[in-house]
Amino acid sequence: MELIKEIKTMQKISREKAVEKKTIGFVPTMGYLHEGHLKLVENSVKENDITVVSVFVNPTQFGPEEDYGEYPRDLERDLDLLRERNVDYVLYPAVEDVYPEGYATYVQVEKGTDVLCGRSRPNHFKGVTTIVSKLFNMVKPHRAYFGQKDGQQFLIIRQMVDDLNMDIEVVACPTAREEGGLAMSSRNKYLSPQEREAALVINRTLQKAKKWIEEGERDGWEIKKKMEREIRAEPLATLDYASVVSRESLQELGEIKGPIMIAIAAFIGSTRLIDNVWLEVK
Ligand code: AMP
Repeated sequence: MELIKEIKTMQKISREKAVEKKTIGFVPTMGYLHEGHLKLVENSVKENDITVVSVFVNPTQFGPEEDYGEYPRDLERDLDLLRERNVDYVLYPAVEDVYPEGYATYVQVEKGTDVLCGRSRPNHFKGVTTIVSKLFNMVKPHRAYFGQKDGQQFLIIRQMVDDLNMDIEVVACPTAREEGGLAMSSRNKYLSPQEREAALVINRTLQKAKKWIEEGERDGWEIKKKMEREIRAEPLATLDYASVVSRESLQELGEIKGPIMIAIAAFIGSTRLIDNVWLEVK
């Protein structure tokens, strides 16, 4: 496994691999890897000749009051985990090289980015689509792997890839969970044992909502109200949103139908956690 810090070096390797007719699978991450990230890596290693994983905590997707400075980082541990999984290259560029002085270009998807997480994190998805586009230009992958856990992010990236004719297959992988159902996240590190227990309310509520729909409820506002009630009953949780949305428009649904996502974001103490469930409703 090779650690690559220079963007130009990565681009040279990608071009060479293309000449050799090797397929490149790519897993973008912000590091501090857990089993969820590693599942994406395993899929990429299985399905491609070469796997590249990037580790880059992207400043442009964090708001001014958010945890960019404190975001957990441990490169040596990440490298050990990736070596064990037979990754070929780890791209670890410096912030100053990704966003040099005078940097002025952003990629913005204009649908589904101002709802759910986009409402409380106004420039978040602009930062995400910009960095993912830039990383795609560095790595030139055939396939790129994302977690369903960040469901809105995946749907926005898929929209960007389609709209900009990026010749890349984007793959969504199921959410890896801790025992008890809490979605794995690098931010779980911030939780005290008591908060970790309280955080279970998020997935528990999603599972209840799924069951209500499976039992025949089709009123999206009713499900929303009931989910909000469940989250508010947990003293350590502060609700950001609980919504039932279309996976096509990302808009909230009055009548539940088609490919949908039930999504929740809540602060547990001061840690903001998100989770979601996907359903096909006839
Ligand atoms: P992050 O490092 O949080 O930016 O995540 C990098 C990638 O890993 C994204 O595509 C995430 O959706 C994915 N990911 C994060 N947590 C999980 C999880 N629990 N299960 C599956 N994928 C995940």
